[in-house]
Parts: sequence; C-alpha cells; structure tokens
Amino acid sequence: MAPAGVLRIVRTRAELREALASAERPVGLVPTMGWLHEGHRALIQQARAENATTVVSIFVNPRQFGDPADLEKYPRSEARDIALCTEEGVDLVFAPSVEEVYPPGFDTTVRVGAVAGPLEGAARPGHFDGVATVVAILFDLVGAEHAYFGQKDAQQLLVIRRMALDLALPTEVIGCPTVREPDGLAMSSRNVHLSADERAASPVLARALRAARGMYARGERSAEALRSEMRRVLAEESLAKPEYVSVADTATLQELDTVAGPALLSLAVRFGSTRLIDNELVGS
Ligand code: AMP
Repeated sequence: MAPAGVLRIVRTRAELREALASAERPVGLVPTMGWLHEGHRALIQQARAENATTVVSIFVNPRQFGDPADLEKYPRSEARDIALCTEEGVDLVFAPSVEEVYPPGFDTTVRVGAVAGPLEGAARPGHFDGVATVVAILFDLVGAEHAYFGQKDAQQLLVIRRMALDLALPTEVIGCPTVREPDGLAMSSRNVHLSADERAASPVLARALRAARGMYARGERSAEALRSEMRRVLAEESLAKPEYVSVADTATLQELDTVAGPALLSLAVRFGSTRLIDNELVGS
C-alpha cells in the first residue's frame, strides 16, 4: 500500500491487483459512478472507520443505462471526485476505462431473479443486469472484506445482497442510511440536472414518504391507503410526474395489501427529463 495519507489512482485491472496485494486488511470497497456528494462521503467515512484500507471505484457503467442520452449526460468530474477522496483519506481509487472493465469480446451477464423484477427493474429493463455484472467484477477484482452501498438505492442493495449470497462472493455487503439535503431531498448525482423550479419542487418525494410513514405510525396498515397518501402529496407539485408509488415486502419487493411486517415505501418521480427515486422503511 502507498504510505498513509497518500491517495493512489489506478486504472487497470493489473494495477489494482498489484496495489491490493500488499494492502492492509480488512479492505473496504465503495463502488460509485463518480460526481461524488455527501451520500458517497458518508459511505466512504463508514468504510474508513471499519477498514484498514479503503478503495473507491469511480466508473460510469454503460451497461446499467438503458438510454444512451442518459449515459451521455451523466455528470462527471474526476478532479472533483479525487479531491473528495483525498479529503476523506481514501487509500486507492480505481478509475478504469470501459474497455478495462469489459475487455474485448466481453459476453457474460450476471442476472438476479425475482427481486430485480419489479420497481426499478420494471421501469429500467436490463438495469440490474448491468449493476450486478459490474459489481461482481468489482468484488472479484478488489476482494474486499466489506462493500458499502446506500439504502437510497434500496432495490440495488437487495439485488447485490442476493447476488453475493447466491454466488458465494466473500465480500460482506453493508447498507448505509440515505443522506439528504436539509429540505429532505435525497442526495443524488442526478440532482444537478434539476432546474431551479424542479429543485424547489423536489422535496415532495421526501414529504410524500414522510406523510405515509406518519399514517403508518398512527396505525394505518392498508398498503393502498399508504400509496394513496403518497400519490396525494405528490399531486401537490405540478412539476412532479410520478412513475411508480409502492408499498412492498422488504424481502421480495412484491406489492402488499396489508402491512403486517417490515415494508419498503418507495417512489420514482420525473421532473422534466430527470428521474428521482427515494424510499423509507417502516416496521423494521
Ligand atoms: P452512484 O454513484 O449513484 O452509483 O452511487 C454509489 C453508491 O452511493 C450507491 O451505493 C448508492 O446507493 C450510494 N448513494 C447514492 N446517493 C446516496 C445518498 N443520498 N445517501 C446514501 N448513499 C447514497
């Protein structure tokens, strides 16, 4: 490993393996697509607190984007990301090219079953195949004891947990709480695309979730009543175009009739061309 406090940036599989050969254990991995924000920072801080070596990957993964325009406009600034990683004492940044992650002729897909089907999986066909495939590659390359993912992408966390269990991957998957702006908007690299009006309207996601959670806390157990409450709050903002509003089982992500155990309240909402997601757990 590089001397303490010195960030090393590697770009190839071979350099990564070489850098990690002498790394102090345990190793913590934080996979990201860059344009790092306070949500990523919290993941990195948790990794730093729990590991001797912290690795951050920065890779905008084309395989998890259905829409080429979405991939094209995804915000990128390696300099900014490196600055945050340096501030946080990250040991190693893996910032590979597409060709390095997917060598010529690459033809393998990791596909997780039922839990990848609804919600984001239904709205974004192929998305979780792309996520699972790149995370499997990263897990293999880094060989970390721990990997850190945000609860913000709750279904992604479930998909990765399923994959890691099923494929006996030795990296432990750790979920971290969602980091929010003071007005409740969940931090996301995509927030940068919101116009001023859309940004002003965007806390409606968190408000809708909070309203439904409040109903749940007051004893409401009808999932449809909770979904209706979220739809009602979202309708208060004309710029918000809901894509789905869900109250689902936290293990299977199947929609519930009655909330008898832990449930995931989640929603996806469009503001113009920007698509935001958010979620809250209840009953856990
Ligand atoms: P991304 O760069 O958007 O692919 O995100 C990389 C990791 O950061 C994923 O595990 C995300 O779930 C996590 N993440 C993104 N936004 C947040 C947030 N607001 N709070 C906590 N974790 C987040």
